[in-house]
Amino acid sequence: MISVVTRHPAGTQDVAAAVADLTRPGDVILLDGDLGAGKTTFTQGFARRLGVTETVTSPTFTLVRSYSTTAGFDLYHADLYRLEQLSEVTDLALPELLEDAGVPVSVAVIEWGERGSPALGPAHLSIQISHDDSSDEARRLDVVSHGGAWDDRLDDLAARLKCPAN
Ligand code: ADP
Ligand code: MG
Repeated sequence: MISVVTRHPAGTQDVAAAVADLTRPGDVILLDGDLGAGKTTFTQGFARRLGVTETVTSPTFTLVRSYSTTAGFDLYHADLYRLEQLSEVTDLALPELLEDAGVPVSVAVIEWGERGSPALGPAHLSIQISHDDSSDEARRLDVVSHGGAWDDRLDDLAARLKCPAN
């Protein structure tokens, strides 16, 4: 796990940019934390780093929106806050969206991702964002690789974030 504290929204977006730099097609990144924790803020930093110029906001009337990037893969941004049943996640068919004829072609960033995780498969990066007591604008990001997805990249990410992985 990597734990990193950010002191302002731009700091969280810098962490997101570091994650984006290591992201590969087929990756699924689950963001969790209370309303206002910074999940959308993170996604905005992530998308910007991939070259998305559109404004990224949480999809409200659909669970998922897609963005073209300049990174060679598309970005799907989902928000499961309004999820009522797990079958809605199954219906999104994210594993199929992320692949074309078995070849990974997209990545997904999913706010409130834990709500959908039983339908999403074991391999993902999970980022839990919580308020840090040190100030109103401080957040702690706990980054964990599940199902081996990021095991080979966590040390690199820790180095980029200048904090130890353990
Ligand atoms: P969520 O999507 O988790 O509900 P948002 O990203 O929409 O949260 O909102 C987070 C709010 O907290 C924004 O208004 C953002 O400017 C503010 N904020 C303050 N400090 C931070 C920080 N360190 N990281 C992320 N957001 C922060
Ligand atoms: Mg949000």
